[in-house]
Amino acid sequence: MLRKAAAAFTQWVFGGTCLLCRGSAGPGLLCAACDADLPRLDGALCPRCAIPSAAGATCGRCLSHPPRFDATVAALEYRFPADVLVHALKFRGELALAALLARLLEERIARNPPVHFILPVPLAPRRLRERGYNQALEIARHLARATGARLALDACERTRDTAAQIDLPWTERAANLKGAFRAPRSLDGATIAVLDDVMTTGATLNEIAGALKGSGASHVVNWVVARTFPPD
Ligand SMILES: [Zn+2]
Ligand SMILES: [Zn+2]
Repeated sequence: MLRKAAAAFTQWVFGGTCLLCRGSAGPGLLCAACDADLPRLDGALCPRCAIPSAAGATCGRCLSHPPRFDATVAALEYRFPADVLVHALKFRGELALAALLARLLEERIARNPPVHFILPVPLAPRRLRERGYNQALEIARHLARATGARLALDACERTRDTAAQIDLPWTERAANLKGAFRAPRSLDGATIAVLDDVMTTGATLNEIAGALKGSGASHVVNWVVARTFPPD
């Protein structure tokens, strides 16, 4: 798998083929037209959970049920072709895409206060064995270099293998994750960015933020490449 990713990377860098339209691209993996077509989240969003909200005010959902994270920064809406890019990294081992997705996220986080640590959402051990890599970690490596924040891989761990969130109805996702994460060391006063590729209900990120704050983190922000908007 790694050899395949390396070969694909070499082809993109030196062959200059756009990943989405197969037209000619520069070193950035996409041609200018496909890059411009990405569903960037440029509109007004809730600062807490990054769903569209009038004038960028905190949304009703966050006001009535405040999440345990403090803020969310999202680069793209999770729809075509953002979903193609996320899938190619996650399921096809196209590791070179991590740099592209990190760059898209970096465009957004540049406007936000710096953090001490970046925590990629830990994969369930079984999933990590099957896949061979954690896509969130691959993106986080680039952002650690770009921002100067440190990777904090040991800040949070899974306490058990949970059912994949994707296999569950939205209403059951929070219960599936209760107590599924723990933060084993003191994070006294630390500011932490939790990095994931896709945020859907936010249940995973909410559990992780709760664990981090329970161990003393003072501020937890989600950095997500793509945001799915929940049904009303
Ligand atoms: Zn293209
Ligand atoms: Zn919100």
